[in-house]
Amino acid sequence: RAKADGSGCLRFFEPESDSRMRQRRALESDLRRAWAARDFELFFQPIIDMKTRRVSCLEALLRWNHPDRGSVSPETFIPLAEEMGLIVPIGEWVLSEACAAAMTWPENLRVAVNLSPVQLAHIGLAEAITASLARTGLAADRLELEITETVMMKETRATLATLERLKALGLRIAMDDFGAGYSSLRNLQRFPFDKVKIDRAFTAGLGHSRQSAAIVRAVTGMCLSLGMVSTAEGVETEAQLDALDREGCTEAQGYLFSKPVPAKDVAALLDRLACADVT
Ligand code: C2E
Ligand code: MG
Ligand code: MG
Ligand code: MG
Repeated sequence: RAKADGSGCLRFFEPESDSRMRQRRALESDLRRAWAARDFELFFQPIIDMKTRRVSCLEALLRWNHPDRGSVSPETFIPLAEEMGLIVPIGEWVLSEACAAAMTWPENLRVAVNLSPVQLAHIGLAEAITASLARTGLAADRLELEITETVMMKETRATLATLERLKALGLRIAMDDFGAGYSSLRNLQRFPFDKVKIDRAFTAGLGHSRQSAAIVRAVTGMCLSLGMVSTAEGVETEAQLDALDREGCTEAQGYLFSKPVPAKDVAALLDRLACADVT
């Protein structure tokens, strides 16, 4: 990450920094090669509507299967791709693949795509989205974009203009990982969000921490008042799901329902979840 490297002057003299730098270079060239070969895959994780207990949306999550290292976490390679200038083309590929996948699902299901701040700052974003929708035939209202708050920390006006433009295309915008970083309520007021995804740290505390429950209640209540959907991330237990129900959360996502699965397994997953009594 840029910030970690910012202190590079000191770290340069640390004994392990040389090998770390070499590792990073290696990973960079592997990433470049992987992109050239399109060695990526999209996995999909269902998001459940609390009222109907049915899948309403699936989030696309990028996977890179490294020949030696196995699956590399997007938490590792996305920042690298951002620094290398690869995130824009990779992100366009993700958009296009995600829209194409959604076209094979029942029409009531949406697809959610994560956007990097770098993509949001890129002038070609709206065109790329329009092109993906046109090429695949996906209706704009079936696409959701997830962005984290880091996007809003600088260049507020430009970001706002971009988000307004995207909204005008008819798609939905979600604030991802709410509460994890420098969450500001002002951002919720200023930007046109349709949905707030409550960071999984709060979900994790449900069932045993009264503070977590209070925070979730406050966020879901605020979403309700502001006309936004609230989605709890990282739901792993029935107890958490019950608590979310009590606190008025509108959507849930997490391993309790399913881990992210490859595109080819989505149909079977939807069958399983439609039959399962997820209560
Ligand atoms: P995110 O958008 O907040 O995605 C949720 C992450 O939580 C995913 O990790 C998902 O696999 C994981 N998760 C879901 N349910 C549970 C659960 O019940 N328990 C636990 N412990 N974890 C759960 P993943 O797939 O490793 O992705 C990590 C992050 O990488 C994402 O966080 C997102 O910020 C980023 N990312 C993933 N795909 C893309 C992409 O295509 N483009 C961009 N720009 N970023 C991406
Ligand atoms: Mg996300
Ligand atoms: Mg998230
Ligand atoms: Mg995250």
